[in-house]
Amino acid sequence: MEYNIDILVAGCNTSCQHCYVNGGYEKIMSFSDYQKCIQKLRPVFEKLNKSCSFTLDNELYNHPQALEILQFTHQEVHDYYYHHGSTTGIALMKRKDKDDILSLLVKYGTPYAGLTFHGGKKHHNEIVHNEQGFDVLKETAIYLHNKGIKVFLSFMISQYLIEDLDAIDQLLHEIPYDDFFFVIPNFMPTTRMINYQKLRLAHEDYPILFDFMDQRHIDSSEIKKQVTNFNEKKILASLSEEYLKDFFENEPKQAFFKVDQQLNFYYGNTGATSQLIGNLNDLTSEEILQSILQAKPNYYDSSHIHLKNYSYDQLFGLTPSDKNYVYPDIASCLYYLLLK
Ligand code: SF4
Repeated sequence: MEYNIDILVAGCNTSCQHCYVNGGYEKIMSFSDYQKCIQKLRPVFEKLNKSCSFTLDNELYNHPQALEILQFTHQEVHDYYYHHGSTTGIALMKRKDKDDILSLLVKYGTPYAGLTFHGGKKHHNEIVHNEQGFDVLKETAIYLHNKGIKVFLSFMISQYLIEDLDAIDQLLHEIPYDDFFFVIPNFMPTTRMINYQKLRLAHEDYPILFDFMDQRHIDSSEIKKQVTNFNEKKILASLSEEYLKDFFENEPKQAFFKVDQQLNFYYGNTGATSQLIGNLNDLTSEEILQSILQAKPNYYDSSHIHLKNYSYDQLFGLTPSDKNYVYPDIASCLYYLLLK
């Protein structure tokens, strides 16, 4: 088993429509609480060794003491920290100490960042709910590249992205990057994601994207495989006891936990209204360790409903939506069809 702990040290500058963790403007965790949290977790990390790692969410750069947090993290628990690198750039670009932060990323061997675009300026800003979103993301790419940070771009596939493929083409000529990817958003049963469904791309709309990619010699093999296998009709046609057994048995052997800004420790993914285990102020490191060791995988668990609670018959009775939407995995598709 692999164990992942998400420590919520600060909120986001955006509240993206496609966000399955319901990210937004949240309070920060005080630096002294962060120190307490790491001191409590360090013996747990050491016992679990490399099977346990943690990351800092949602956007570390919103924390006034981001620099100290990074320094402390690497001094104390370097081997267990996972730097996800995602940024909207909005907080980072306003910081006076941004050069120092980037120097630390280089020093600690994490000189990379992930920037996500949803389409041209109007559509991107609408999805992330921030009028500065698109322009700042472009500036951030240029700034990071000039400072020697690797820039990875994600293009989140939606109706908007398809409408704005010319803008994406222009973007690829305007800003520096080390690599880029087209990504099919997942689905989790949250209000935000239900609203985002109207922008999800249907199976019949994908050839436009394939043409765009093929004309530019962009490898489309992985996306094509997902579109073929994970559209609603194909998944429903494939459903059988064996298919579902195989799907549940092959759930990644990972369990997610989170620590919120008040040091509450939960079993469950960041976005999930997950199960409270206790507060790190009250739990001993040994109790934290035991609760982690008892955990079952929860990779496919969501906020309100859990696929594993449905019988095979209930899942066999599902029908496709009016659109034949495409998902990155089976779980996303089943969640939506259960909910619609
Ligand atoms: S997608 Fe990322 S930046 Fe956007 S709201 Fe969610 S956590 Fe925040």
